[in-house]
Amino acid sequence: MTDDPLVSLEDVTVRYPRADRPAVVGVTVRIDVGERVALVGPSGAGKSTLLSLCAGLTLPSDGEVRVLGVPTPLLGRRAQRPVRSRIGVITQDFGLVGPLRVASNVAAGRLGRWSWWQAVRSLVRPGPLDEIGAALRAVGIADKVWDRTDTLSGGEQQRTAIARALFQAPDLLLADEPVSALDPARSDAVMAVLAGHASGPGRALITSMHDAPLALAHCDRVIALREGRVVFDRPATEVTESHLTELYVIDEPSAP
Ligand code: ADP
Repeated sequence: MTDDPLVSLEDVTVRYPRADRPAVVGVTVRIDVGERVALVGPSGAGKSTLLSLCAGLTLPSDGEVRVLGVPTPLLGRRAQRPVRSRIGVITQDFGLVGPLRVASNVAAGRLGRWSWWQAVRSLVRPGPLDEIGAALRAVGIADKVWDRTDTLSGGEQQRTAIARALFQAPDLLLADEPVSALDPARSDAVMAVLAGHASGPGRALITSMHDAPLALAHCDRVIALREGRVVFDRPATEVTESHLTELYVIDEPSAP
């Protein structure tokens, strides 16, 4: 194990086509093994874009992003498949295949590590079933293993996406509002599972969260964003009520 960061962003800016302002502006951040990082901030602050940068799904307009030592423009190359398989992503739209059974969607977490033949076989006979069952049990839906995914509730689908990421067992877990469809008690339990995953050797978690108390309870570092810029980056134990109040204050348009 080296001291290389799992993720490094160096003066990164993202400009989406036709957007009137950049989504991320001059962000420099380093995330190390063992960290559980919450991205907080108002809607539109750039949290999803930052996660997408870390997943290599969005490329910086300026600056450099390296993930697991690889500059993200190179992540799509065939030779980087082993690196990609170490990155797990839970997106806000879950990215599930509705007509497939839950077991097959969870099994898809390992597609990046499987041969073509293993991938095809997993559609017909998903496995290993004990590990798929364990991932589903961790998020409380073991009884849904053979259900068609599109018959599940939104919260159950979100937990299927989380189970898929747990089954993948990535070193870097990127989660975009992973408990947005869950009730408070379940949110707390699932966040504990995600944080627990990230405490394994060589791992880290970066998660966006609109629920600040939940972020503080399960993450040890908080990066606050506003209008694409880092407003503060500090240990969760040092984040105060007034930091959060200031972060989420609504700018009223000035009177004419
Ligand atoms: P958050 O996750 O904090 O809500 P986002 O990263 O989704 O923030 O969005 C940051 C900014 O970028 C917002 O102003 C949003 O409207 C804009 N944005 C996000 N995705 C796109 C896109 N695909 N095209 C244009 N603008 C986008």
